[in-house]
Amino acid sequence: MEMVERAVETYDHLLWEAIIRVCGGAISKGFRQQRGSASVTYEVPADPRLHLQEIEQEIFSFIISGLSIAKTSCGSLEELKEICSRDEYRKFVEDAGRLWESPFRVVQIGKRRSEKWVSCPCDGEHLNCTGELNMFKIELKGPRNVGKDTYKFHFVISSQR
Ligand SMILES: [Zn+2]
Repeated sequence: MEMVERAVETYDHLLWEAIIRVCGGAISKGFRQQRGSASVTYEVPADPRLHLQEIEQEIFSFIISGLSIAKTSCGSLEELKEICSRDEYRKFVEDAGRLWESPFRVVQIGKRRSEKWVSCPCDGEHLNCTGELNMFKIELKGPRNVGKDTYKFHFVISSQR
């Protein structure tokens, strides 16, 4: 998989985590990825248009922290729930409503249980470190209102030169 696609996949996790932290929660309502870009729709309890700067700052703090990104897997839903952080288990297992088959692949960003730890079920390909996102130009567009408490974000990632 190309690096730009892995960057999109990685950025998506940081965007989700930033929205949760800044807006106090989110429910995933859709994800569409194309080469070098993605559109994500979230239902959030606070209008993210009023907090876009904080969301971007939160993402930036993950990037400059240069957190390592690792893959792991586990064999049961109980174990999966145990190793997932915050709302990630709910987003990826309960909201998604899909039947996951074990072993479950999990992406882990940062040190377990540390302040910037993100851990969620995902079988996508990611960068090795959040700091690698610095090598890309990232444009975060939106959020725009697409329904009751529901907002769509779009981001485009391209090589930095
Ligand atoms: Zn992922």
